[in-house]
Amino acid sequence: MQTFLQRYWFVIALTIGAIAWVWRVRRRLSASAHAPPRPRPRSGSVGTVLFRGADFAVRVATFERFVWKRIAGMIVFGLVSVGLFAAPGLPRATRILGGGAAAAGAVLCWLALAIGEGKLLRRLGLYCPQCGARLVEASEDRVPLQKVVRETGQCRCGAWLVDPADLPSGQGPDAQYLSPSQHHPD
Ligand SMILES: [Zn+2]
Repeated sequence: MQTFLQRYWFVIALTIGAIAWVWRVRRRLSASAHAPPRPRPRSGSVGTVLFRGADFAVRVATFERFVWKRIAGMIVFGLVSVGLFAAPGLPRATRILGGGAAAAGAVLCWLALAIGEGKLLRRLGLYCPQCGARLVEASEDRVPLQKVVRETGQCRCGAWLVDPADLPSGQGPDAQYLSPSQHHPD
């Protein structure tokens, strides 16, 4: 077990990091309070927008599926790896080959996520044309941008991205999400 820790500490760190990330994002999503209804502009009155509401939701879901699959892969491979090394009574070869392969799998999932996510975001067009922000994020200290866009139609820079007609009922522009430097009151 000690050798395992020396060799594969990064897999354990990766697994713990992935689990903590999932937990914190879930908590952040459920913590965002239900706001009072906000008035919204008429459809088409905010100029050309990139997305219809349903289209944006589909693109975000596609990207989130990609991320969750790889995070889940990291967790599963990581746990299998730790399990194989920690389980009593396994032949040494099984421990080393199986545990090593699972550890490699966890790292590959992480690499696939790190390399693939920018490419997928670009393919889905999930960047703000005005400020360049990625429209899907996993922020721990603020409401994720995809949720801001879905519910207010705007990026934090103030650019309209989703047609106001497609916002969920009772949702509309919300100045609390706009970056102070970019906020033009009118
Ligand atoms: Zn923006």
